[in-house]
Amino acid sequence: MSRTKESVCCGCGSKLDAASTADGSDYTPEPGSLSICAYCGVVSIFEDDMSLKPMTLKEIDDLPFKIRSEVMKMSNFIKQKNYSIN
Ligand SMILES: [Zn+2]
Repeated sequence: MSRTKESVCCGCGSKLDAASTADGSDYTPEPGSLSICAYCGVVSIFEDDMSLKPMTLKEIDDLPFKIRSEVMKMSNFIKQKNYSIN
């Protein structure tokens, strides 16, 4: 897990100040990296100043197929996990 600039999730309002990879490998996000909120599954992208901007459906649609399918799988997993808790 690496520390990131503090942002607020546009989906659930959670404070986000750290990031980790899906497989636990070492990685520090950089501008253009994708982020999926661990609390609500909203997909965002790191901007040049490392703040998080939520991605539009169009932007997600424009991702390469392989990346898009991984992102959607992860996002849906988080959403389902949270629905079952609430
Ligand atoms: Zn969220």
